[in-house]
Amino acid sequence: MIPKVDVAVIGGSSMFSINFPEDLNLPYVNVIEETMVFETPFGESPSIKLFEVKGLRVLFCRMHGWRPNVVTRGVASQQLFWVFQEAGVKKIFAEGGVGSINHLLELKDFVIPNDYIDNSMRQDVNLGGPYLLMMRESICPTQADLLTNAAKETVAGTERNVFKRGIYVNTDGRHFESPAEVQMFRTWNADIVGQSICPEVYLAREIGACYAGIYMVVNYAEGIIKDWDHKDLSDIFYEEPKTVGSILIKALLNLNLQQDECNCKNLRKNTLLKDGK
Ligand SMILES: [Zn+2]
Repeated sequence: MIPKVDVAVIGGSSMFSINFPEDLNLPYVNVIEETMVFETPFGESPSIKLFEVKGLRVLFCRMHGWRPNVVTRGVASQQLFWVFQEAGVKKIFAEGGVGSINHLLELKDFVIPNDYIDNSMRQDVNLGGPYLLMMRESICPTQADLLTNAAKETVAGTERNVFKRGIYVNTDGRHFESPAEVQMFRTWNADIVGQSICPEVYLAREIGACYAGIYMVVNYAEGIIKDWDHKDLSDIFYEEPKTVGSILIKALLNLNLQQDECNCKNLRKNTLLKDGK
């Protein structure tokens, strides 16, 4: 039922307005299954696409699996990652739009974070595996390098910046953050704020997969630089998705399916807790 696939891509708001990967019109990309939905212990999964890039098979899900008929975003992530676990996914790329907290960031810059802070109120979002999850080096450095290089190549010759490190603070949403919250996040040394890296980063570790994401600055966070403009946000929303899609395809083309260049799989240990304790 669930195909065996090594690699997955989780799409976010930066690619919401296109049909990925079809709209990139790349001759070496073929869609194999457009809409697969699976029963999971957490309810019916979001719609998942299976495509192939030069022989590499990839599962793709839009908007982190969030959709109106799912109770919480955490449940959507559990459904999605349960499918990835059953498929045997070992490498995951994610993307999304974020607000900038760091004053050095400009609209449309890219950040590939190397760490995160979970300020969401979601609790117990896991798949029930018997593991102790270490969140040291939570973002796969090998995959982060692939995203960084792909982004730099894609925006070469423009004024856009690509940052290969940064701290992503995750909030619940769906609303944006207040100016006072943003000031608090600054004191935490956060660079960008968004709503998707958690719980994905935990669930990736739980299923033994490497995880890295690329995030485009789509607005200044409240109280940072200047009040953000809805027009800027909508221009980015409609004009930039193909840039993000191209970066992801480039990263996929350079992916090494072995997990021997990073330490990710060694950061999942067996739990010391036994039943009932
Ligand atoms: Zn890794």
